[in-house]
Amino acid sequence: MAKQPLYTMVAGGALEVDEVFNVKCNCGGNAPITPQSVKGYGFSKKGGATKVVDKLDALCQSCDTPIKILVLHGDPGYVLTKNQGVCQLFLPQGSTSPPVSSLSAQEQMQIIAEMNADADRRARARKKAEMEKRKKKGK
Ligand SMILES: [Zn+2]
Repeated sequence: MAKQPLYTMVAGGALEVDEVFNVKCNCGGNAPITPQSVKGYGFSKKGGATKVVDKLDALCQSCDTPIKILVLHGDPGYVLTKNQGVCQLFLPQGSTSPPVSSLSAQEQMQIIAEMNADADRRARARKKAEMEKRKKKGK
């Protein structure tokens, strides 16, 4: 039976050092990737607030678990994820920010609130831009 893949994120900034980067598996093993394996790092792809630069597949050398990796642009700090409707912070591997587990619950909630407020601002700005575009078209 094929193993369930593990999903993770890596801060692209960590790949700017021209060395093999070991993505950590849940078992503690390593799934090495090289900066050269990341397509168009830092140039070609543009997304929202957090830019996904590339998607990679790696394999844990200890337990053979396939690992699906999202490479994020630069060092984006915490990423907001939702687990069963609950917002959680995730720190991409290779990021220089302190690990989520070192933050107090209050600090985590503060960061989540700021990220949600920022997302709301972006959504409103997008909506406004769309409406102005439509007005110009005369619709
Ligand atoms: Zn493993």
